[in-house]
Amino acid sequence: KLFNEIQELKGNIRVYCRIRPSAIGKLEKESIVEHAGENDLVVANPTKDGKDAFRSFKFNRVFSPAATQADVYSDIQDFTRSVLDGYSVCIFAYGQTGSGKTYTMTGPNGATSETIGVNYRALNDLFRISTSRQNVVEYEIGVQMVEIYNEQVRDLLTTYVVPDASLFQVKLPSDVIKLMEIGLKNRAIAATAMNERSSRSHSVVSVHVTGKDLKTGCTMAGNLHLVDLAGSERVDRSEAVGDRLKEAQHINKSLAALGDVIFSLSQKSSHVPYRNSKLTQLLQTSLGGQAKTLMFVQINSDVSSYSETVSTLKFAERVS
Ligand code: ADP
Ligand code: MG
Repeated sequence: KLFNEIQELKGNIRVYCRIRPSAIGKLEKESIVEHAGENDLVVANPTKDGKDAFRSFKFNRVFSPAATQADVYSDIQDFTRSVLDGYSVCIFAYGQTGSGKTYTMTGPNGATSETIGVNYRALNDLFRISTSRQNVVEYEIGVQMVEIYNEQVRDLLTTYVVPDASLFQVKLPSDVIKLMEIGLKNRAIAATAMNERSSRSHSVVSVHVTGKDLKTGCTMAGNLHLVDLAGSERVDRSEAVGDRLKEAQHINKSLAALGDVIFSLSQKSSHVPYRNSKLTQLLQTSLGGQAKTLMFVQINSDVSSYSETVSTLKFAERVS
């Protein structure tokens, strides 16, 4: 009960931490993760000794490296399913490149039914439930997919730069899989042309649901935005020049703007600074108010990632 009350106060913002498995699938001896509980995480600074070395962080939930994709989804399905009742839901994956953002949201390359990520699970769920309610509510589901790169929005389903991305009505989970494959392919084409651009752009899958109550004729609309954010790693200013520096500045700016928006929402602030980035502008109507926000904070547990991990955890600390 207390937990629900806290959720109410915070306007439905949840922050989850997911620890990426190391190559051997478990926390290694040299892991910086000292303790991973249900709701808290303690990390150890490898260059310090004793009490000074530890920092602890609180989360709505911590997923250890052993957590499966199904474990993760089962914890968030109440959020995604509420879209069918007319809620707006945004789910973000935040973290440095290589921390498992795409794994959580989409799954690995060549994913199986066991390893598919939140995107596919959520859509399958929406189709399954909307079908089971078909005698009561008539639902329509549409999908958009865009990429934000250097503060420009690009439609991944048609490959044009457009203010309004094309919306495709979908009837079956397989329609969605086809669309997502097109989107991922378009993203990949840009990636080879522009050197791993995918880690330096935000990708947003938006699912729009409308429903009509067959008895009363009442209508409702809900939407689900699934956001795989650009890598949060800091770029060495002495090394980055030209395009790389510009990219880094755009990423810093938009991630900071997202942090500011979620922070003001969590503070119930009367002014929410949506206008400071393309990402927050795009999601403006789906962040705040009755909307639900969920952030996966993705971390690596290896020693060499310590400083990025702490900076990721500090970002999470501010928004949670
Ligand atoms: P990011 O999108 O943050 O750059 P990825 O999702 O591409 O990171 O993950 C980096 C690598 O680690 C990929 O090979 C991915 O399949 C693997 N990986 C990430 N998280 C997990 C996990 N929970 N279980 C197994 N493999 C994972
Ligand atoms: Mg990725």
